[in-house]
Amino acid sequence: MSMFDDIPVDVGVVYEGERIRGKDMQFEFGGPNVEQKFELVQARDMKEIEDGKIIIQGPDLKDLEEGKSYPLGILVEVAGKEIEKDLEAVLERRIHEFINFVEGFMHLNQRYDIWLRLSKASYKKGFNSFQFLGKVLTRLFKSEFPIIEKIQVTFITDPKKISEWYKKALQIYEARDARARGMKDEDVTEFYGCVLCQSFAPSHVCIISPNRISLCGAINWFDARAAARVDPKGPNFMVPKGELLDEIHGEYSGVNEVAKQKSLGEVERVWMYSMFGYPHTSCGCFEAIAFYIPEVDGIGIVDRGYEGTAVNGLAFSTMANQTGGGKQVEGFNGIAIEYMRSPRFLQADGGWNRVVWLPSNVKERVLDAIPEGLRDKIATEKDVTNTTELRQWLKDKGHPIVKQWKEEVVAEVTEAPAEAVYPTAPTEYTLPQVTMPATMAAVPGGVPVALLQGVLQLPGGIPGAAPGEGFQLIFKNVKIKVDKLIIKREEKGKK
Ligand code: SF4
Ligand code: ZN
Repeated sequence: MSMFDDIPVDVGVVYEGERIRGKDMQFEFGGPNVEQKFELVQARDMKEIEDGKIIIQGPDLKDLEEGKSYPLGILVEVAGKEIEKDLEAVLERRIHEFINFVEGFMHLNQRYDIWLRLSKASYKKGFNSFQFLGKVLTRLFKSEFPIIEKIQVTFITDPKKISEWYKKALQIYEARDARARGMKDEDVTEFYGCVLCQSFAPSHVCIISPNRISLCGAINWFDARAAARVDPKGPNFMVPKGELLDEIHGEYSGVNEVAKQKSLGEVERVWMYSMFGYPHTSCGCFEAIAFYIPEVDGIGIVDRGYEGTAVNGLAFSTMANQTGGGKQVEGFNGIAIEYMRSPRFLQADGGWNRVVWLPSNVKERVLDAIPEGLRDKIATEKDVTNTTELRQWLKDKGHPIVKQWKEEVVAEVTEAPAEAVYPTAPTEYTLPQVTMPATMAAVPGGVPVALLQGVLQLPGGIPGAAPGEGFQLIFKNVKIKVDKLIIKREEKGKK
């Protein structure tokens, strides 16, 4: 007898990595087409809830139309002698994992940003009520956390009720985030780690410190500490800081050791406060991506909710493919929005002084964290639409990054020759690693990739990649030999 005999589909770890494509879905909840959605765990008194009760407020699965997107709120209430408020966030994060155990159910992201899909196949097998999902959650939570003595699950699909709860939920998330503000990494002796996302990104290890909340934004230092205490065999664990090796980059011997061990040797060094060199790995559920913009030597931020293309011409989803998967990708870093409030936010790279572009929504959300003198110097999609415009804009506004553009000063002298040749003797440069984003173009007979100045022709294309799909080229230990570098002045209107 299995724990899930009365559920019409299978439940197990094997289904965790399952993706459900649009054409295979019965319907979806949350995601980019739905504004209000959330999941929330709340600790209650024993008397307040009824163990095993599953409540559905609004239409149930069987009442919904095929192919559509619906709002959803998931409220899990728990009680028990050892249940503390501190545990809410980590319990909440497990909803993601447990729903993914259900055959034909996909769950992405967290908090106010959830995205669930049910497959047509599982719906046909009889998975037509939230009752089933509630039972799965109830049983998995109780077996995984014996300290949960009572659990009650509510699914809300009624838009009016979601609206009320949504506002409350946002306040609760904000209160959790605010707790770690004001604390410093140097004030604590240990950090915490999380490997919950290794089922999707096997070499990914989150290192969670007071100044670097997890990239999913759902687990801060207090949350991870509470989880490591009650569930030491679970995905959260203590990371002794060890020796501080580099204060600016945020490199600690203890962090390096744990990252190496938990990533099975994939990751040997971590710079907690940098997106270059040895950046923190990114799984897939980051709230935002910090991306390098070579044209202006600055950093852009794009969040998951941003529609359209960022200032570099790439959409969030394209950059997400390049960023995620548990690798250390220089120039792309999955981050939480809350991390932008940290005094250590990309400190080694220049922090806010290096940020040149971000969506207006995000700017509004973190405005008070942006140093005052910079607020009107960082562009949004409302100010510029490409890097050429961005460059001009930064210059006009006097953004601090402009001072870093030394070479450009030479090229810009009006009297500069139409063609200049550097250097006079062949010069060799060695770069440890070059990572560059690229986008496939549909070209008959091959797939050209803009590569520095040249064009890389891959006659057969990249296996499995479709035209228009983003991908990434990583060259390790690159030597660039330059015989001649020609800087030409462009005539207006000509490429
Ligand atoms: Fe844990 Fe990090 Fe995944 Fe969040 S992103 S669930 S902290 S591994
Ligand atoms: Zn993740």
